[in-house]
Amino acid sequence: MSVILVTGGSGLVGSAIKHVIETEPEGSRFGKKPGETWIFARSSDGDLKDAAATKALFDKYKPTHVIHLAALVGGLFGNMKYKLSFLRENLLINENVLNASHEGKAQKVISCLSTCVFPDKVTYPLDETKIHSGPPHESNFGYAYAKRLVDVQNHAYNDQYGSNFTSAIPTNIFGPHDNFDLEVSHVIPALIHKCYMAKKNGTPFVVAGTGKPLRQFIYSRDLAKLFIWQLREYNEIDPVILSVGEDEEISIKEVADSIVKAVGFEGEYTFDTSKADGQFRKPASNKKLLSLIGEFKFTPFDQAMDETVAWFLQNYDTART
Ligand code: NDP
Repeated sequence: MSVILVTGGSGLVGSAIKHVIETEPEGSRFGKKPGETWIFARSSDGDLKDAAATKALFDKYKPTHVIHLAALVGGLFGNMKYKLSFLRENLLINENVLNASHEGKAQKVISCLSTCVFPDKVTYPLDETKIHSGPPHESNFGYAYAKRLVDVQNHAYNDQYGSNFTSAIPTNIFGPHDNFDLEVSHVIPALIHKCYMAKKNGTPFVVAGTGKPLRQFIYSRDLAKLFIWQLREYNEIDPVILSVGEDEEISIKEVADSIVKAVGFEGEYTFDTSKADGQFRKPASNKKLLSLIGEFKFTPFDQAMDETVAWFLQNYDTART
């Protein structure tokens, strides 16, 4: 019997894991296995910044396995403005979850890092060996250091107690249940919302920048399967990058084209080249993942975008906008 507790279970990634567990055939590689109970916790089930509330959550469910996704997550703006909050809240959440997992004798914990915790000055492609090899970008150092420390904690728990605590490093994620807020969200949900508003109001759809920068995007439901794989089949303390390959980078223009198609927007569509582009590319290698997982099929980008936009349109009134 195993009890898998997913912290952050109501967010973009947590909802995707719930979807996969509920829709993949039972007993299949990514489906629910006999004897498994999955618990998807949100902040109203217990504030993980609070040690007593975290302990109460763990005492209630007694998880044997933990996928730890809960975090203070934000776009560039939030990260730049509230560095101390991003550092402090994420430090507290991670400390409480790992300590409660240890005290509750959880057999395995997977925590979630991000490719934006890598050093600012680094040789590309990013890989799992480079997370601590230089300071992170100044704009998000609070979030980055809090997340990097999870890897340090995992090694310390393993060193001192033999714990099987590890981590995952996803690239840019998108999908249903994302945060579509126009101010604070990531590029894909922000552009979907903007395009939807342009269609609704009969105004131009204007994309900031040249559209040329390249990024790796992973569909949340593919990432969900990779987390389930990592939970069942991955046995290292060191992190693993969960991403599409470097050869599947796509430009912001390709992203915007796909959104225009999925939204059915037929109005004026332009790029505001007076706005700064971010870094041109910051490729991450998924070689380690591919060498371990064997067969895995990523969802084609346009299909993932169609599913995301369909979800956004159906759930506009309740989505985070
Ligand atoms: P979301 O913002 O969609 O969800 C965050 C989740 O964390 C929600 O379930 C939220 O609960 C929960 N949460 C936040 N604060 C607390 C708290 N104090 N106590 C308990 N629960 C809390 O995040 P994502 O799904 O996008 O991110 C999941 C993980 O992936 C994070 O660790 C993030 O750092 C990482 N990541 C995300 C990327 C992205 O592109 N989105 C890229 C790379 C990594 P509630 O809904 O109740 O508020």
